[in-house]
Amino acid sequence: MKESLGLQSQSPWNSPRGTEETHGSPFPGWYRDLNSFLRERFGFKVQKIPLDAGLSCPNRDGTIGSHGCIYCDSKGSGTGAAPRTISQQILDYISKPRKANVGGYLAYFQSFTNTYAPISKLEELYQEALSIPGILGLCIGTRPDCLGEDVMALLRDYASRGLMIWLEMGLQSAHDETLLRIRRGHDFSTFQKAAIRAERAGLLICVHLILGLPGETTEHMRETARRISSLPLHGLKLHGLYVVKGTEMERILEEGSYEPLTMEEYVDAAIDVLERIPPSWVVHRLTSDPDPRSLVSPSWMLDKGKVIHAIKARMLERRTWQGRLFPDSRGPG
Ligand code: SF4
Repeated sequence: MKESLGLQSQSPWNSPRGTEETHGSPFPGWYRDLNSFLRERFGFKVQKIPLDAGLSCPNRDGTIGSHGCIYCDSKGSGTGAAPRTISQQILDYISKPRKANVGGYLAYFQSFTNTYAPISKLEELYQEALSIPGILGLCIGTRPDCLGEDVMALLRDYASRGLMIWLEMGLQSAHDETLLRIRRGHDFSTFQKAAIRAERAGLLICVHLILGLPGETTEHMRETARRISSLPLHGLKLHGLYVVKGTEMERILEEGSYEPLTMEEYVDAAIDVLERIPPSWVVHRLTSDPDPRSLVSPSWMLDKGKVIHAIKARMLERRTWQGRLFPDSRGPG
């Protein structure tokens, strides 16, 4: 599967083709971004459509836990677009005039846990999305402990028919003590086993990490990157921890036992991770888009463009790129 993503081990600093390949981008090849990957794969611009299928999460409905992860907001980090149907959400998105020059879409089941429902319900939801012209595949946000054989078989079937199927699995940290602290309700080995099964099913796997979790140091975050880099994954989604109103994290912040990362700290931590993952992985996201109405802290996260620019500028300063320390020998950096 790694081969199929086009492993690039060459340093971008030595690549004379960088600028041409990235259509004049001033930041050629420092990391492998999703837009470029999709353009390589399909030959045109492809966008993800965020969807809310109105599902739940076993970490909130009492099956595993009742209060959710300590940072989880009431929308399950999603769009809140349910109860509009999947078709309505997709057609509304496609009809927006700003979507000109787009050749196709991936339906992104984002909110809550999108493999947590009876298989007949899941099939109906996925099929509704796939039946709309222009939908080229699915991105399914889920937890590693919600991947039964039935849903794996269904997704394997879609992948074998040539659809692009990304499984976006939350991990957040590879340290069990952190996973316990943030109330994830699963451990690292559950993620490892799920990743191996999903890879065997022919799915593309994107791991979600959060930087700046309570109790974690720079070394914890680097170690998470080292541990995941040996797994059969294909993509990474990163963001810094942000505190949302009404969450357990808000209480922890108020009592003074947690301090969010500064933008500079986040930028260096994100680059530390990028340096340690394989150069073939596709970077889906490097920062998040919190809702300003519910964000408590840190406010710098509201300026997504500034954060991305700072990461690219700092990579230039550090003379580094995605995969520079892969496989990591605990060297400099
Ligand atoms: S797994 Fe996701 S939806 Fe479930 S409690 Fe945690 S953050 Fe919320």
